[in-house]
Amino acid sequence: MADVEHIKSQLTAHPDFPKKGIVFLDIFPILRNPIAFETLITNLVHHLTSHTIAATPSKKIDVVVGLDARGFLLGPIIALRLGAAFVPVRKQGKLPGECVSASYEKEYGMDSFEMQADAIKPGQTVVVVDDLIATGGSAKAAGELIAKQGGKTLEYLFIIELMFLKGGSKLDAPVYSIVQSD
Ligand code: 5GP
Repeated sequence: MADVEHIKSQLTAHPDFPKKGIVFLDIFPILRNPIAFETLITNLVHHLTSHTIAATPSKKIDVVVGLDARGFLLGPIIALRLGAAFVPVRKQGKLPGECVSASYEKEYGMDSFEMQADAIKPGQTVVVVDDLIATGGSAKAAGELIAKQGGKTLEYLFIIELMFLKGGSKLDAPVYSIVQSD
């Protein structure tokens, strides 16, 4: 619990960013503090090894998927600690080679996420990582990309979950978050 409080104490709130009426929660102060960053990674890896992997028939996580862009800061570290592959989900047009794509709703109109077509093999177990879940639209699109390739999403992990938006209810697997915000 002290660990969670330490991580929480590093977060900063920025009213009216990126536009009026939005309070943006910034996770970068965590990364500037090596003890808080280590605590964060340890929390997520401990959860995955003690709960998620323990509850999985294959007893392993094959792939950690990180979402553009802050999921790229967490996912590779977690993947290395688990001995898993890291796979990025990027905004449309950024990845070379054949890609699968899924669209999701943003505040104004739609956007598309892509994953390289051979990144996940059928039957592989996958967890998805990002810094924050709001409406759940981007995480849902990532889940669709994993399902299109025959992967099995075990869980979605976030530093922060905006509880009032109920984004987790859109997803095909449970959410784990360190900080729950109203
Ligand atoms: P959703 O698709 O769940 O509505 O939005 C989540 C995405 O928006 C994530 O990729 C996340 O990085 C970004 N996001 C939205 N609001 C915030 C915020 O207040 N703080 C941070 N760090 N990211 C946010």
